Amino acid sequence: MEPLDFDLVVIGAGSGGVAASRRAAALGARVALCEAGRVGGTCVLRGCVPKKLLVYGSHFRDDLDDAAGFGWQIDGARLDWPTLIAAKDREINRLNGVYLSMLRDSGVQLFNGWARLLDRHTVEVVADGKSQRLRGRYLLVATGSSPHKPEIPGAELGITSDEALSLRSLPARVIIVGGGYIGVEFAGIFSRAGAHVTQVVRCDAVLRGFDEELRQAYGTELAKRGITLRTGEQVAAVERSADASHLHLVLGSGERIASDVVLFATGRRPNTLGLGLAEAGVALRGPSEHGAIVVSEESRTAVDNIFAIGDCTDRLNLTPVAIAEGRAVAATLFGGQPSRVDHRNVATAVFGAPPLACVGLTEEQARQGGHTIDVYATRFRPMKHTLSGRDTQTLIKLIVDRPSGRVLGCHMIGADAPEIMQALAIAITCGATKAQFDATIALHPTAAEEFVLLRPPRTVAT
Ligand SMILES: Cc1cc2nc3c(=O)[nH]c(=O)nc-3n(C[C@H](O)[C@H](O)[C@H](O)COP(=O)(O)OP(=O)(O)OC[C@H]3O[C@@H](n4cnc5c(N)ncnc54)[C@H](O)[C@@H]3O)c2cc1C
Repeated sequence: MEPLDFDLVVIGAGSGGVAASRRAAALGARVALCEAGRVGGTCVLRGCVPKKLLVYGSHFRDDLDDAAGFGWQIDGARLDWPTLIAAKDREINRLNGVYLSMLRDSGVQLFNGWARLLDRHTVEVVADGKSQRLRGRYLLVATGSSPHKPEIPGAELGITSDEALSLRSLPARVIIVGGGYIGVEFAGIFSRAGAHVTQVVRCDAVLRGFDEELRQAYGTELAKRGITLRTGEQVAAVERSADASHLHLVLGSGERIASDVVLFATGRRPNTLGLGLAEAGVALRGPSEHGAIVVSEESRTAVDNIFAIGDCTDRLNLTPVAIAEGRAVAATLFGGQPSRVDHRNVATAVFGAPPLACVGLTEEQARQGGHTIDVYATRFRPMKHTLSGRDTQTLIKLIVDRPSGRVLGCHMIGADAPEIMQALAIAITCGATKAQFDATIALHPTAAEEFVLLRPPRTVAT
C-alpha cells in the first residue's frame, strides 16, 4: 500500500507533540500525529495535572488543622481517598476529551498505534495488528519519557509515579525512594493524606540541583511534618513479608524498613528504544545519558528533516518547555521563522509540603559561572501561622550580580511560592536589577513583599 503523504509526521501526542502539531496545522501544514496510548501524554494523564489535583486534595488536611487556631471547630473530618481518585480520574478523562476535540478542530489527522521510523521519511503505525505507513517531508519525535526503577531484586514489587496517582486505597505506610521533585511531591501528598512517609535518598539532602540552602531548609520542613528522611542511603532490595501483608525495603546497610507501598521516584528515561532512530541516522546519547536524542538548539537531529522535542531529548523536562520547543519547530518549518527556545530562566516549582519554587541561578551556579554575587535572604514565620501555630518557616533568597546589579536568581520555600515565582520570572526574563526590585512598592501584607524589601546583602560574596 502506498504511504499517506504529509508535511509533518509527529510521533507522540503529549504536551510537545500536540503543541507542535496544532501550530504546524495552523500554519497550513498537513500533519499526522501518532499516539500509542491516550492523547495528552504524561502531563495530562500521569504527571502535572493528576499530581496537582492530588496536591490540592491532600492540602485540605493542612487547612483543616490550621483552621483551629482561627476558632473553627471541625471534628471528624476525614479524607475518603477513593472519592478523591475518582474525581481526579473524571477530570483527566474530561481533559483527554478536550485534547481530542482540539486536535479534530485543528485539522491534525490522528493515528492511534505504536509508531516507528522505517527510514528518514517513513513512519509505520501499528495498531491491533494492522499497519499503516505515513510519509512525511519532516518527522518530529516527541515520545517523552518513562519512569525508571533501580535494578535491584524485588524492584517489581515497588510502584512508580504512574501507579501512585491511582492507588485504590490510601496506604498506612509509604516509602519513597528518591529525593527529586516527584518524590518530594508524593511525600507531601501521602503525608498530608494521612500516611506515614519515609523518604530514602542517596544524597545528603533532597532536591539535588536546587539551591543548597533551600535543600537543607527543605529537609527541616519535611521533619516538622513527620516525614522520616533517610539521607545517604543505598537501596538493596524489596521483599515481601512472610505473611505477604506488607513489603520491606532493604537498605545497603542491611536494615529493613517495613511499608505497605514502596514508590520508586528514581528518575525517568527518554523513550527512544525500538523506534528505528539510530537506523535512520538519528544520533542518541550514550547509555550513561540514557539514550536521549541529540538535537541542535533548533531541535534538529543528526538527520536534517527529523526533529525531536520534549523529554525524549532530556534537556529541561517540563511541560511548558516541551510545548515551547514544539511550537518553535513548527515556526521554523512552516512559519518561515527559524526559532529556538531559551532554556535559561525557566521558572520551576516543587508542589510539595511546603511548596518550593525558583527561577534563574542558584547561589552555587552563580559562583561556578564566575559571577561576583551578593546574596540576600530572609526566613520568617508566615503571618497565618502566628495563629494556626504551625511550625514552618518561609525562606526567600535573591542572588544578585554585584557589578551589574542584575538579579540572577530568585528562590522561595513557602505557601504560594509557585504562583509568586511565575510573576517574578517575568522580571528576571526582562533582566530586572536589585535596584528595580527595591524601587517596587511592597504589596502589604503578603509574603511576596519580602522580595522587594530585602536589604542589606546577607553575605558579601566573592
Ligand atoms: C509525576 C510527574 C509530575 C510532573 N509534574 C510536572 C509539573 O508540575 N510541571 C511540569 O512542567 N512538568 C511536570 N512533569 C513533567 C512533564 O509531564 C513532562 O516534561 C512533559 O509531559 C513532557 O512532554 P513530552 O511531550 O515530551 O512527552 P509526553 O507528554 O510524555 O508525551 C509523549 C507521548 O508519546 C507517546 N509515545 C511514546 N512512544 C510512542 C510511539 N513509539 N508511538 C506512538 N506514541 C508514542 C506516549 O504514549 C506519550 O503520550 C511531571 C512529570 C511527572 C511524571
